[in-house]
Amino acid sequence: MTEVRLRFPPSPTGYLHIGGARTALYNWLFAKKNNGKLILRIEDTDTERSTDESIQGIIEGLEWLGIDFDEGPYFQTTFDGDHKAAAERLLQEGKAYKCFCTKEELDAKREAALAAKQSLGYDRTCRNLSAEEVAAKEAAGTPSVIRFKVPEREGRLGYDDSILGRIEADYKELDDFVIVRSNGKPLYLLCNVVDDIRDRISHVIRGQDHMTNTLKQILLYEALEAPVPIFAHMPLTLDTKKAKISKRSHGEIVAVQFYRDCGFIPWAFNNFLVLLGWAPGNDQEIFSKEELIETFSLERINKSSSIFNYRKNDPKFFTDPKAISINEHYLRTMEICELAKLVEPELKAEGLWQESFNGEKREWFLATLDLIRDRFHTLKDFTSLGRAYFGDDFTVEEKPLKKNVLKHDGLKEWLPMLADRYEQLDDFTLESAEQAARDLATELDIKPGIIINAMRTVVTGQLAGPSMFDILIAIGRKKVIERLRDVARLYPA
Ligand code: GLU
Repeated sequence: MTEVRLRFPPSPTGYLHIGGARTALYNWLFAKKNNGKLILRIEDTDTERSTDESIQGIIEGLEWLGIDFDEGPYFQTTFDGDHKAAAERLLQEGKAYKCFCTKEELDAKREAALAAKQSLGYDRTCRNLSAEEVAAKEAAGTPSVIRFKVPEREGRLGYDDSILGRIEADYKELDDFVIVRSNGKPLYLLCNVVDDIRDRISHVIRGQDHMTNTLKQILLYEALEAPVPIFAHMPLTLDTKKAKISKRSHGEIVAVQFYRDCGFIPWAFNNFLVLLGWAPGNDQEIFSKEELIETFSLERINKSSSIFNYRKNDPKFFTDPKAISINEHYLRTMEICELAKLVEPELKAEGLWQESFNGEKREWFLATLDLIRDRFHTLKDFTSLGRAYFGDDFTVEEKPLKKNVLKHDGLKEWLPMLADRYEQLDDFTLESAEQAARDLATELDIKPGIIINAMRTVVTGQLAGPSMFDILIAIGRKKVIERLRDVARLYPA
């Protein structure tokens, strides 16, 4: 059996967006499943639009997702010689020809064809120029492009798309397409094939937006006497208004880096991406890496487009709710040590990290993550909603402050009283901390809830969270006492 070799060939004209990332992921999964190789090829031939920043961004985005490559990155521009040599070979072998028609001539022909309701394709004026005619035009300095000579055959040209089935067109419908511009630059269509031949690509998995090229490219493979790869064209990803997702019209919400910066878990994001256009055939939605490699198949990729359901103006769901719910699932269920590895850089970036979290405070650190993760949505929540567990500079949210603290002036005295009792306890435990709070409420003849809710807000800054006494133990007696004593700072002067 021939080797399974795939490629991900992004054009570096912007960041890695979710459509591109999904293409990379499907290629990666297919390669892994079939013991194949995956090649990263940066298609940077459009030198005006390609930027180093995009190249960097694409590589970083793929690294973050954990999509690794067996070869590359290769850069298309470094193979310019190969592209030109292929065009030259096609000319030499009479499979391509120089076309001297000017833009004005072509426009006029198009208009005439349009008026006569005839085919708009190139009328092949230059296809049969004699060698002398060509030489004369060149001697006169007439600029030319190189066109591919579509074979004159009856019948249909086609291929079996692994997702869409048989795709065909009449040879007669195919236009003699340009492969080299008048400035000598080979067109992308040709470069892509030449590179895929050199890289011995066996499977091309790419978006349906490339289907307009595929039959022409198959003709190029034949003309260059190379085996034609298997093609699989994936459905596009659309937004809720059925518009194609693109960097230009959707901005950062479709950029992979946005999800990294929002604190998504890389594998959770892959899990979300895979479901944008593929389904296992049952209602399973959560897949480990191994499971997904095992289950993934091209045949189960949807034929129709998928919807990236992001809600532009909904603050609750700043992106596709499915992306968030999958992320929450991983956050709340993953191995705590794995989670700790992901939280560490978040804490470091905020100056909240202590080396002891990997040393003598390791047990405390893991238990605290486990305690607080249940209500969290992204890794960023550990340094925002969960900030009070790791440092003292946390914000007390306005809503609970009003509701739980400012409503009762008495708390300015009651909480410091409770702090004194906590200081005097022999052992600061779940039970003793709770008992002391309840006893104080009884003595003051107030509802225990007043003390407990106020304590939650003062100690964590939050309205909701884990059980209050678990929180106290996690934050520790010393800090709890300090925060309770300092309650007056929260009241207006
Ligand atoms: N460079 C093309 C793109 O970024 C890829 C084309 C292909 O997969 O053949 O869309």
